[in-house]
Order: sequence, then structure tokens, then C-alpha cells
Amino acid sequence: KTSISPLRKINSTINSYAIAKNKEIETLQRNAAFRREFVADISHELKTPIFAAQGYVHTLLDGAVEDVNVRDKFLKRAAKSLNNLDNLVQDLLTLNQMESGVVKFNHEVFNMIPLIEEVLEQLENKAEKRHVNIRFKYNPEKSYFTKADKDKIYRVCQNLISNAIKYNHEGGEAIIHVKSTKNHIKIDIKDNGLGIPPEDIKRIFERFYRVDKSRSREMGGTGLGLAIVKHILEGHKSKISVTSTLGKGSNFSFTLPSEKKASATEE
Ligand code: ADP
Repeated sequence: KTSISPLRKINSTINSYAIAKNKEIETLQRNAAFRREFVADISHELKTPIFAAQGYVHTLLDGAVEDVNVRDKFLKRAAKSLNNLDNLVQDLLTLNQMESGVVKFNHEVFNMIPLIEEVLEQLENKAEKRHVNIRFKYNPEKSYFTKADKDKIYRVCQNLISNAIKYNHEGGEAIIHVKSTKNHIKIDIKDNGLGIPPEDIKRIFERFYRVDKSRSREMGGTGLGLAIVKHILEGHKSKISVTSTLGKGSNFSFTLPSEKKASATEE
């Protein structure tokens, strides 16, 4: 009897060791699979604009260069593909830095209203080209100061407003509504554009997930914008929420903490 007990003890130690090791192996395998999938995704995404640019350049070299109209059209398309490639590499670097946790968040006190006005100014051309009407709503009597990483919040607003323009109909509308309560500032970006099918809503924050690949590429999208937005807001302990109706439009919103206007920034 006395010899069974230590044997049992050894057995259970070996068992729990095996279970722990198995878990470790499973995690390693999952990580390796994740990395393989990531590399496959990236290669595929990189190939698309490279092949397109190559195609135009080779066609030009094969003689299309002689026709002035064709030459201009193909050069513009090649330039657009290279531009998409550049956006993709930039977004990949940003996302990679975010996911590896090396990105620092520099919090400062700032007013959300001029920040959004700056984004709107930058996107003015895009909206005009696509005939999307933009409305900016807030109560001028209220304060909209927050403490956050200004550059990163700029990026969040830029991405969401740019999407409200990209995935809209000609003549559609995008409304940016900023509300302020005692503790929070809530930013809503609403469009009456294409909307998102219910089965896709959860997945649009995954890298490279797009509802309509060709439309996204046509608009210069990388499929990484919302993944970056999600990471930035997580870094602010905030979350993005979305409601959408297919064919009617979408509403993306997030909150940031309210902050008393700092004396240093007082106008
Ligand atoms: P992309 O670079 O393709 O725009 P995002 O990560 O910003 O990538 O968005 C992922 C996908 O989510 C888009 O390709 C699009 O299908 C969908 N999406 C994002 N915003 C909207 C919106 N406002 N209306 C409809 N679909 C949207």
C-alpha cells in the first residue's frame, strides 16, 4: 500500500507536465499557423498591385506607348497601383508595430473639433469627387476637450470618415456628430451608403477582410484601416461600435474621456 502513493504522485506530476507541454505545443502550432497565414495574406495582397503595375508597364513597352491616349491612361493606372502598394506597406508597418506592442501612446489634452475639421479639410477633395455631402454637427456652446494620443485619434477619424465617403453612393451623405457629456466625448460617423451585410459586420475589423474586394481596391483601400482603428482605440481603453443596414448605411462610433480645458491650451 505504501509504495502506491509515491507512484501515484509521480504519475500525476508526469500527467500535469504532459498536459502543460501539450498546451505549449498547441500554442506554438497555433502561432506558427497564424504566421503562415499572415505571410500568405501579405504576399497575396502585395502581388495584386505589383501585377497590375507590371501589366500596364509591359503593355506600354509592347507598343501601347505609341498611342498618346492609351499611354496616359496606362501610366495613370500604373501610378495608382504603385500608390496602393505604398499605402499597403505603410499600413502593414503601422499594424505590425501596433500588434507587437512597441507603439507608444503620447497622451495630450486637445479639442476634438479642430482635429475633425482638419480631417474634413484633408478629405474635401475625395468627398467632392464622389459627390458625397459631409455634415459636421456639434454644439458650439459645449467643450470637446479630451486627453488622448492626438495623431492616432486623427488617424481613427480619417479612416472612419474616409470609409463613409468610399462606401457611399454618389450624392450620399456622411454625418459626423460629436456629443459631449460630463465624462465622455462620443463621436458618431454615420453614412447613408452601401451598408454592411450582418454576417460581415463582426469580421470587418480583421486584417484584409473586405465586403467587396474590388470596390475597396478601386478606392485605394488596403483592408487594414479598421484593424488599425481597433488597435488604436484599444490603446485608449476604448472600443469601436458599429451598426449597419445593408443598402441603407452604417454608423461607427467611439468614445474618449472628457477633459477639462487645460489652462495651457486656453484660447
Ligand atoms: P479598406 O481599406 O478596404 O477600406 P477597412 O479596414 O477600412 O479597409 O474596412 C474593411 C471593410 O469594411 C471595407 O473593405 C468595407 O467592405 C467595409 N466598410 C468599412 N467601412 C464601411 C462603411 N462606412 N460602409 C460600408 N462598408 C464599410
